[in-house]
Amino acid sequence: MTGVPRSAYERSKGLETVTWRHVPVGRGLALTLLEQGAAAARQQTGQGLLDVLDEAAGLPPCKLTVADRPQRHRTREGRLALKTYGYYRIAWESVPRRGSIRIYNLTAIRQQVLAPKVFLETLLHEWAHHYDFTGLELDRSPHTSGFYARIRDLAQTLGVGFVTPPNHELTPARAVPDDVVTPTLDRLKPGGVAPPQWIRDQVMGLFGRTRG
Ligand SMILES: [Zn+2]
Repeated sequence: MTGVPRSAYERSKGLETVTWRHVPVGRGLALTLLEQGAAAARQQTGQGLLDVLDEAAGLPPCKLTVADRPQRHRTREGRLALKTYGYYRIAWESVPRRGSIRIYNLTAIRQQVLAPKVFLETLLHEWAHHYDFTGLELDRSPHTSGFYARIRDLAQTLGVGFVTPPNHELTPARAVPDDVVTPTLDRLKPGGVAPPQWIRDQVMGLFGRTRG
């Protein structure tokens, strides 16, 4: 590394493409996902696509769970606290490894199956968080304009650029992701102070049973 390290926000904002070891051969899987609706089928095909992406980018594995239920929507301080379709969690040891993605297959309010484009875009979005932590080795994964540009680049590489939304311009405050469970929430350090109960409840609610 040369020069003064820039913040995760500045690095994230400045990078608009995904760097591959070789081009991922995932177009067929992406197109298959656009024809599937059932949670089990989406989980199997989606895991296959994640594996292709991780191999092509040289990243550690990322496990996909597609839950056949609506996202639990919660309010905190009177606001809808959880409003995304999926979540990303990274487990750290000395380096970040073992990402996991959870996507709810039904919409929160109307309990309809997620539209195929929405499902695929959510999957690519959550994988982009995996790329940030394990590929770019950022210590945070903010929703910068560069983050969204990398998702568009990824989708175009897969030949499904039409699933991604247009440009986002976000301020640093609005770029704080609400769909990333960070390592400090994930691990109880021996002898350390346990995180607040509401955080443990949230992690449990999103990902099921915690380890240990
Ligand atoms: Zn996100």
